Order: sequence, then structure tokens, then C-alpha cells
Amino acid sequence: MPEQLIISISGMRGIIGENLTASIAAEYGSAFGTFLKDSAGSNGSRLSVCIGRDSRGSGRMLASAVGAGLCGVGVDVVDVGLVPTPTVGVMVTHLGCAGGVIITASHNPIQYNGIKLLLGNSMAPPVDAAGRIKQFFLEKRFDYVDSARCGGVAFSDEADAKHIERVLAIADKEAIAAKGFRVVLDSVNGAGGPITRKLLAELGCQVSAINDEPTGVFAHTPEPIAENLTNLCEVVKAEGAEIGFAQDPDADRLAIVDEAGTYIGEEYTLAMAAKYIFSKKVGKAATNLSTSRMIDDIAAKAGCQVIRTPVGEANVASAMLENDCVIGGEGNGGIIDLRVGPIRDSLAGIALVLQLMAETGRSVSQLTADIGSYYMTKTKFAADSKQAMEILKLAKQQFSDARLDVSDGYRFDFEDGWVHIRSSNTEPVMRAIVEAKDRSIVQRYLGEIAKIRREVLG
Ligand code: MG
Repeated sequence: MPEQLIISISGMRGIIGENLTASIAAEYGSAFGTFLKDSAGSNGSRLSVCIGRDSRGSGRMLASAVGAGLCGVGVDVVDVGLVPTPTVGVMVTHLGCAGGVIITASHNPIQYNGIKLLLGNSMAPPVDAAGRIKQFFLEKRFDYVDSARCGGVAFSDEADAKHIERVLAIADKEAIAAKGFRVVLDSVNGAGGPITRKLLAELGCQVSAINDEPTGVFAHTPEPIAENLTNLCEVVKAEGAEIGFAQDPDADRLAIVDEAGTYIGEEYTLAMAAKYIFSKKVGKAATNLSTSRMIDDIAAKAGCQVIRTPVGEANVASAMLENDCVIGGEGNGGIIDLRVGPIRDSLAGIALVLQLMAETGRSVSQLTADIGSYYMTKTKFAADSKQAMEILKLAKQQFSDARLDVSDGYRFDFEDGWVHIRSSNTEPVMRAIVEAKDRSIVQRYLGEIAKIRREVLG
């Protein structure tokens, strides 16, 4: 069966030349533009949308098509070129745009591309708004305008500079530069290379960059997880660098390699950023229910609070805005610092981690030891919505002694660990994540989940 075009709250994702074509993208642009006009009401002022793209070869085609769709409904376009996802977020608010579009399929393989949407606050549309955009698209409700009122396209080349400016404003540039850190950067030939090299140069780092040309020809499988970063680990070790940074193709996620060339796991990115922020001020953090307890440990030591949200960047960002959080993000290496923008940003993450290293004088391996460690295992399995409900029901019976959070699937918190079972937003699968201090405890919870799965799925 051919794969379906996926339309979720974060936008659209498909396979180029199969289900994601220029005409589909243009209609999606028109649907988004119509939605924005509809939401703005009839005050007569023209709206603009900022468009950026990652390095995939199909990026320019999709950006042009979405832009044409927007112009057709009378929305102006500012094309900021080949940039990371968070850079588009910065430009939306900098330029006062009504929305933003990022052409990216994030960490998915090269045959995919996608269209991510942002509202004027640089956040992904909330569920109700995303539902309306999807409805406009499916029902082809496009508010086309006549020739005189068509949108225009302007180009901006200041996106990198504006983004770097905001990141430098949250860091102590001199303190970091004084250390002259030796850094290896792996941008997987995605959008992150050029801008991140510039940021690291501003921070006085000695940089060895690998895969830093934004060719869209990914140097390795693009998700920044251990098995894909063996080369980065080797280069860090060979060069005697103090830290290695890995980005995904749209540079919203950040993974770290320590000075021994060991991949420390994406969960530590948020933990280290929170450790630095909480050393400066008492405040709140927000993260999703699937993220490690490390951040709770760090917050508890600093007298700070952690708010847990359903999975999804927009959920974390909304909770951060509502609760005035000083740091937030996701365990997949997505750091959100509202001073830069309500969007996951590997550049903000890099600045905060280097700042922590500079101020504490501790190496990455020492910092991870300070934070402590957990065992975490993630599994996923096919389950339709009926099976998913049955699995959750049985899990609730099985884990009846746990503290239960039902805001996104079920998260069971025990003294010695936690289990989070939820359905995917984009495919008919369930994910189960288990974390505990002890590997045997993880195995025990996994065994109990496997038993429930067998009972329901056979
Ligand atoms: Mg990404």
C-alpha cells in the first residue's frame, strides 16, 4: 500500500514525487493563507508569512509552491532561504509576520519532505487551529484574490544574523570565549552548518565541522541518535575536542558527545541546559511526559518546579508561556528558551551547554556524572485505536499502585521509575517508554507491558 500523506498538528509530511507534489503544496499554502486571513478578521491590513527551508533538494520547489499558494490568496511572502527551523521562528516575530512556514521533514529520510506551520507567535498551531487549516485544505476552501490583490515575494538574508543575535543575548559571550573550547560539529549536511559555525565562532570556539555543507545529501541517517553518530564520536576523540554537537537536518534538535568521544544521549541536552538555567534563577521548567526524570532531580536540588505536558512541541511551548517557564523542551534534544523563541532550538542549546561548561569548569563527562543517570527504553508496536484503549485499560489495572497522569495516554509514576504508554499522533502505533535507576526494574516494567500487549494483540 502506498504511504499516506500525513497531515498532523505540526503540518504535512509526505514523499516527494509520490504524494507530496508542488500542486499539493500550493493548495496547502492557500489553505494556510485563507486560515490566517479568516483569523485576522476584516481589518483590511495585508498579512505576510515568512518561509524558510532545510537543505533537502526538494526544498526550493516546495517553498516556491507554498509561497505561490499564499500569494494567490493575497498573502505576502518573505523568503528567508535555507535556514534552521528555529531561525524561521525568530524571523516570524522579528518581521511581525502573521505566520511562518518551514519546509522540512526534520530527521526523516531524504525521500520525505514536509511543510511545518507556525502562527504569528512562532508557535505551531494549537489543535483547534490545526484542525481548521486541515479542513480548509481538504475542502479546498481557498479565498483566492484578483490580480491587483495577489501577494508578492520579498527575500531576506538577515535571518542568520537575527537568530545569532538572540542566542548571544542569553549567553555570556566573553566567559565562553575565554575558555576557547574545542568543538566538533556534525550538522549532517542539513540546515544547521553555516549558522552554527558562525555562532561558535562568535563564542570563541575552535571548531572542526563535519557534514556542515547544506547540500541536503545527508552524510548519515539523519536522526541524532547513537548509532548514527559514530563518526562524530571518533572525530571528537581524534581531535581531543572537549565536546561534540550533532544536529538534525532542520537543527531544532541537539545531541552531545563527551570529551572521551562517548555519545551521552539526547536526554542530557535538556538536563544540562536546565542545570545551567536553574543555577542562575529559581523558576519553572516544562517538558513532556516522555522525558527523563533527570530534570526533576535537577529542579528539586535547585528548589525549582517541573511542569509535565502531553508530547508535542506546541504543548511544551504553551505550558512555558502560561507558566512563565525559564527553560523547557523535550528529551529528544529539543531545548526551548523563550528569550530566543517558543520553539526548539539547537543553537540556544549549544549556548546554554557551553555556558554551563564555562561557569562550572567541568567537562561533559563530569557534568553527566553530576546529573546522574537512568536507564531508559523506548518501544513501539502496531495497535489500532480500539486495541490502544484496551492496552491502556489493562495497564491501569496492572499499575494501579502508581501515580497516574492521563493527559497523553497514561503515565505511571512509581518510586523507582515510570512508564509512559501513548498512541502516536501520526500513525497507528503505540509507544511505551520506561525509565528507572536500575536496568532490572526497567526490564520488569517492560515485561509487564509485553504481557499486556500479548493479551490484547495476540
Ligand atoms: Mg527537527
